Amino acid sequence: MDIAIIGSNMVDLISYIDKMPKEGETLEAPDFEIGCGGKGANQAVAAAKLGSKVMMVTKVGDDLFADNTIQNLKNFGIDTEFTNKVPGTSSGVAPIFVDPESRNRILIIKGANKHLSPDDVDRAAEKLKKCSLIVLQLEIPLPTIYRAIEFGNENGIPVILNPAPASKELDFEYVCKCDFFIPNESELETLTEMPVENEEQIQTAALTLVEKGVKNVIVTMGSRGVMWVTKDHIQTVSSHNVDAIDTTGAGDAFIGCFSHYFVQDGDVLQAMKMATAFAALSVTKRGTQTSYPTLEQTESFTK
Ligand code: ATP
Repeated sequence: MDIAIIGSNMVDLISYIDKMPKEGETLEAPDFEIGCGGKGANQAVAAAKLGSKVMMVTKVGDDLFADNTIQNLKNFGIDTEFTNKVPGTSSGVAPIFVDPESRNRILIIKGANKHLSPDDVDRAAEKLKKCSLIVLQLEIPLPTIYRAIEFGNENGIPVILNPAPASKELDFEYVCKCDFFIPNESELETLTEMPVENEEQIQTAALTLVEKGVKNVIVTMGSRGVMWVTKDHIQTVSSHNVDAIDTTGAGDAFIGCFSHYFVQDGDVLQAMKMATAFAALSVTKRGTQTSYPTLEQTESFTK
């Protein structure tokens, strides 16, 4: 096993609408789609699509979405031994409303994801010990994230924490125990309460985290690329110039691909470069997991 993702899964319920109904009003909408999402599952799929052996520790409900979510993970070759159903609970769902100008309104109901507990990490211990990397996001309870970080430290397994969605309650004592902390600009802004309008400000904000003891901060900056900040150096990788159609899930694409390449040989800069290419290709297509390219497409794009 290469990578363990301990995190969320969600079912995206996407309504393409002409306009939002007013209170008490019923309107017909032209189109609807169901997609598999959730930050943890997206990152798992991105890494698995590139060929990493991935296990996912996550929880689904006992509703009609559950089997579909598990099957989707399996279709990408992801190990679902620790993807468990929670009786009497709904799966995590995200009703999304997209208007004709492609503006979206999103609700997130975490459902079963709220039940992923520190004990679930310990239950998966034997298999987790065989992994070379643990990847975490913030759509599951914080105590579970803290246990996973401790587990990584106890067993000498590097840990990536993607603080998405941003939470002010995140305890920096644990962040400092992670090997990589990968926020996007707005998460960096929320966590540091500092402006992130330009690269200079992003660098200053990231450095405050490094001064607090965070080892490697990698900030994803959308079409501007990524910035890697440590106490010794600062390095930026520019984005590829592509026609962006849908940037949903670009951050997850970056982290899944970064994880895939990082576990190969520990080369951070090369992993950042490949992840920048992978994420750029993903924004040229609609959808989240469905927009992620293959290994061949990614490697030929970087040649
Ligand atoms: P999301 O929340 O939509 O998943 P995010 O805000 O977490 O995304 P971003 O920083 O927007 O993440 O994007 C992640 C990476 O994807 C960027 O660092 C960059 O490499 C790539 N990327 C994003 N948008 C573009 C774009 N318009 N053109 C090229 N690359 C892009």
